[in-house]
Order: sequence, then C-alpha cells, then structure tokens
Amino acid sequence: MGLKKNPKLMSKKVFIKTFGCQMNEYDSNRIYESISKIGYKKTKICDEANCYILNTCHIRDKAKEKVYHEIGRVKKKFKFKQKPVVVVAGCVAQAENNEMIKREPYIDIVIGPQSYHKINDSILNHIKEKEKKEQTEFDTILKFDYFDKIRNNNSKVSTFLTIQEGCDKFCKFCVVPYTRGPEYSRSFYKIIEEAKQLVKNGSKEITLLGQNVNAYLYEEENSNFRLSDLIMALEEISELKRIRYTTSHPLDMTDDLIKCYEKSRKLAPFVHLPIQSGSNRVLKLMNRNHTVEYYLSVYERLKKINPKIEFSSDFIIAYPGETEEDFEETMKLVKKIKFVNSYSFIFSPRPGTAAFHLELINNNIAKERLKLIQNELFNYQRLKNKMTENKLVNVLVENKINNQNKFFGRTEHMTAVIFDGEKNIEGKIVPVLITSFNQNSLFGVVKLKKNIKAA
Ligand code: SF4
Repeated sequence: MGLKKNPKLMSKKVFIKTFGCQMNEYDSNRIYESISKIGYKKTKICDEANCYILNTCHIRDKAKEKVYHEIGRVKKKFKFKQKPVVVVAGCVAQAENNEMIKREPYIDIVIGPQSYHKINDSILNHIKEKEKKEQTEFDTILKFDYFDKIRNNNSKVSTFLTIQEGCDKFCKFCVVPYTRGPEYSRSFYKIIEEAKQLVKNGSKEITLLGQNVNAYLYEEENSNFRLSDLIMALEEISELKRIRYTTSHPLDMTDDLIKCYEKSRKLAPFVHLPIQSGSNRVLKLMNRNHTVEYYLSVYERLKKINPKIEFSSDFIIAYPGETEEDFEETMKLVKKIKFVNSYSFIFSPRPGTAAFHLELINNNIAKERLKLIQNELFNYQRLKNKMTENKLVNVLVENKINNQNKFFGRTEHMTAVIFDGEKNIEGKIVPVLITSFNQNSLFGVVKLKKNIKAA
C-alpha cells in the first residue's frame, strides 16, 4: 500500500525509542526509513505520536519487565488521547513473542528483528482491521532483500552498517542465537553500495556491525568475501576517513583480518575483542571454544603488526562455577593486556539459555569481584587518558554540542573528546590539544595548522 493511495497517512507521526546496542540503533533507523514510505514522520515528542515503537534489548537484566514498565508509561501518557499503534520490536519481542500481546493488550504488534520487512503491512493492517500481529519468523534473507531496496538516508558523521546477523556459537549465557537466529552475511555488493550511499550523505566513519562480525562470509559461485575484503573495498571510498567493526569473536580473528591492520590506512587501531573470562576452566564452562593462550596469541599477532592497537573487552564476572582462582586468572589477564573502554557485568541468567538454571555465586562475592576488576580497568583507563594531557590527538569531529561553543568527537581509540573549536569542522579529523581528562573523556581545544606552534 503506497502513499498515493493513502493521503490520510501523510501526517502520521512515529516516536521510536531504542534500547541496547548499535545494531538496534541501526535497525531503528532502517525501520523509520521503511515506515516513512507509508507516510510516517519522526517526532521527538512521544505524546504526539500516532505510532509508538519500542525497539528492545534482551542483554540487560530484567529486560522483559522494563518493556512492560515502559508500555505502562506510554499508556498513562495517552490516557486522554487517541491511542497510538503500539509496536514492540527487537530481541525481547523475539524472545517473548505472542506472550506480550496476551499479557499487555495495549501492545498491537510484536515484531522480531528478522521480520522488520513486514512492519509496514503489520501497521497498515492494524489500522484497517484492528488486527493484533506477532511476527517472529527468521526471514533474514527476505528482510535484507527488502531493506536493500530502501535507501539508507543516515547522514551522521559516524554511522553504523549491519553486515552480518545472528550467531551459531551458542555461548551458554547468550540469547543472541535465539533472538537474532543463525549466522547470516549480507551481500558484499549491497554493503558496498550502502556504504557509498552513507558517505554520499556525509558520513566519514562507518562501523560495520554484526553479532559475530568477523565471521562475515559472503559466498558466490567462484569467490568468497570476508570481513577483510569489505575493509579493503571500503578503503577505496575516498571521502570515508575511518573504518571500525564490532563485535568480534577471538576464533574468527583470521590472518587476512589481522593483515588489514598493516594494509589499511583507514581501519582504526582499536579492537573490541570480548574474552568474558581469563580462566580456561570458565571459558570451557561458557562454551567459548578457545583458551586464554589462544586469545593472547591473537593479541600478540595484532600488537606485532601494529603496536598502536588498543584493546577493549567484555567480562562476565561470577559466572556460575567461577572460583577465587578463576577470578584471579581474569585479574591477571586484565593486568597483562591493558584494556581500555571495557564492559564488565555480574553474570545474570537469561531465560532460554543453557546457563539459565545454573547455581548463582553469592551476590556479595560477585559484587566484590566486580569492584576489584572495575578498579583495575578504570585505573588504567584514567592512566591512559592522563598520558594524552598536553598532547595533540587526532579527533574525528562528530557534532557541535547544543547551545555551546564546544564540539564532540572521538580519537582513533574511541575515546570521547569534548573541546573548544571553530566553525565548519564537523566531519573533519582535527588535532586537539588535551588540557584535562576524566575516566571516560578527554577535554581540550582544537589546534588547526595555523594555530599550531609546536606539535
Ligand atoms: S559468540 Fe557472541 S553472540 Fe554468539 S553466542 Fe557467544 S556471546 Fe552470543
């Protein structure tokens, strides 16, 4: 059903609230581009929406309950107004499916990540027939075929581009294989086309996304394309300045990918490589299928090829069965590899995963371990930020900060930088003199060539 046939739909407004990872951010943007074809315009004011979309994340604790609370808040807002079409999308939608509509009749449509190509029809059917719909099939190929035909209009300086979805690795704590489905890699050519479009829109940095991004493998009759091929092809887009990718699995850090850190001038020297635990025993319990020694060998190969590379990681603390000795092993690893910008959480069970019923470690012990590891991680982060004081760092300028004469950007190692700047520097890589810092950010002033006396 197109706009021409539905002039009444011209003034519809949609409010999209996004929880979770970068892929959800990318998906919300693509969902918007899809529903704009049936006349919806984005609004930042929830109360004026005719359609309310909640794009959910299943990674955090109590994800399901948070969704119901959120819907409760929407219900209150619209108590004396016409009810919007309420859509729950994302990983909670996939995991909970029809149960959501049964439990909360205020929800009209429940749609999983591999069914987003059906969102327009679901909304239109609901408006016409008041039909409640649950769409949670794994139609990944159809989904990408559909979205490949819709232009990506994102024009942010730093944008995301999904190249791969799903996972076949089944770590025991993780919901991804159940919520995003089996591994699927998009067409190499369509990805390059989309990247060129993003750059044409004004993007200067692209982060390639996948739950298992470095498992990317697009097969044709006579050739295979891997993540390394994508990186080297993106390298050729002259206006593109930086390339990143996330999230990787250590087992898929293949030689061709490692070589990119030598060959590519645009690939940022920053690797987010989750290890989860520094103990081989716990890695086995988690079904991670690699050892700490293997992880260290990847780390060393990367450092050898480019010593400037910095690492970040994810840690699950107090995984069921983790002993004091296991935790010490993790601390040892953290001291050895001086990770920056890492994520660390106490294990929390996800319904439907193999680790769901395992016996939890005493909460006080878990909290104490988390405190110890975070002290170590954050201390190094602060130290690393301190090392940049009074130095020039190259920052890709993402945006001006509202109502201030300040700008926001990131270093090649992903550290946030807030600085005083000049006009027309958005989208440029500029040298910034760092004058102060805190744990998460650097602060300074831009030093364009004409201002630099001594670099
Ligand atoms: S490899 Fe990553 S996405 Fe796949 S199951 Fe493990 S943690 Fe989840």
